[in-house]
Amino acid sequence: MRLATLRTKSGSHAVRVEDDHGVVLDASDVGSLLRVDDWRAVAAAPGPEVALDLDEFLPVVPRPTNILCVGLNFVSHAAEIGADPPNHPSLFSKFSRSLIGPRDPMMLPHPSMSTQGDWEVELVAIVGRGGRNIPVREAGDHLAGYAVGNDGSVRDWQSRNRAPLAGKGWEGMTPLGPWLTTCDDIDVGDLEMTCEVDDVAMQRGVTSDVFFTPEEIVSYSSNIVTLEPGDVIFLGTPTGTAMTRQPSPWLRPGQVVRSSIAGLGELINVCEEGPAPRSDEWTRGAGRVVISR
Ligand code: ZN
Repeated sequence: MRLATLRTKSGSHAVRVEDDHGVVLDASDVGSLLRVDDWRAVAAAPGPEVALDLDEFLPVVPRPTNILCVGLNFVSHAAEIGADPPNHPSLFSKFSRSLIGPRDPMMLPHPSMSTQGDWEVELVAIVGRGGRNIPVREAGDHLAGYAVGNDGSVRDWQSRNRAPLAGKGWEGMTPLGPWLTTCDDIDVGDLEMTCEVDDVAMQRGVTSDVFFTPEEIVSYSSNIVTLEPGDVIFLGTPTGTAMTRQPSPWLRPGQVVRSSIAGLGELINVCEEGPAPRSDEWTRGAGRVVISR
């Protein structure tokens, strides 16, 4: 089953995606659908049919309670930058306003703030049943399914401090969708994942090339906080980002980022320039003078 969230004049609707149309479900979006105990029955129910236009798709879960991400989870990527294999997943978070739909514009920082926008195609796990302290062996039972994401990143802001949030949480820079494919319809153990920029292949990897499985990351995260239905977990990216290329081909307005995972669909997002700052206090290169102690 494939489930998506459609933008409507009055808000949004959860839909079941069929071959050439959608079926409207009794929920405002996929996140609220997953909060229903027997969401699978609601998702499988008959309903009014609608034509589907990918331009009208919202992020599959528009406002998750928690957005978790894992850095450096791909073996080939870690080897490329000389990093040691991690003992624990490297977790960070994003804001819900970071998320955009599968055809929405990807909002790069205004060039006075940064010109180092970058891409990271990622498999994204979506929580179905919440829980805390979930053992690895039970973690799969807590997942509703998977989608495609792109962990849009602003590298100079990301590397200013040890905490990556400033470069990872930019508003409107993280596509998620196009739909949730339920766990019973996809085996994500060894899927090809690619990211193209203006039709040039930049990333090519497989979901098996990881230090930590989705189940391990769900379990680890659930020790920190209760996972809730609709939470989304970005599971890391393979080699080939702009950051790892010399010279780095940072994203520019007008470029098209195409992120895809075999069997899960694709995201096509055109880069746009974000809003200009209203002062030059934090523009590119500016910052407080560091006084050595
Ligand atoms: Zn990432």
